[in-house]
Amino acid sequence: MRYCKNCHIVYSSQAAACPKCGIAEPIKTDSDAASEADRSEIRRDWLWIAIGVPVLIGVIYLLIKIIYSL
Ligand SMILES: [Zn+2]
Repeated sequence: MRYCKNCHIVYSSQAAACPKCGIAEPIKTDSDAASEADRSEIRRDWLWIAIGVPVLIGVIYLLIKIIYSL
């Protein structure tokens, strides 16, 4: 069910807009989906940091070892 803040009535969630005033309820799912996408993007960033930092340290360590072994 949806609630129209304009006319303070509850109407079917199947309806795209309020049957009384025709104003569509602000769709929360869009921002929710966007923030969900942001969250997954942040998670992906953290995953790359979690993978990238140890790899970077390993590469630097190997480079130092190679440089000192020359
Ligand atoms: Zn309305």
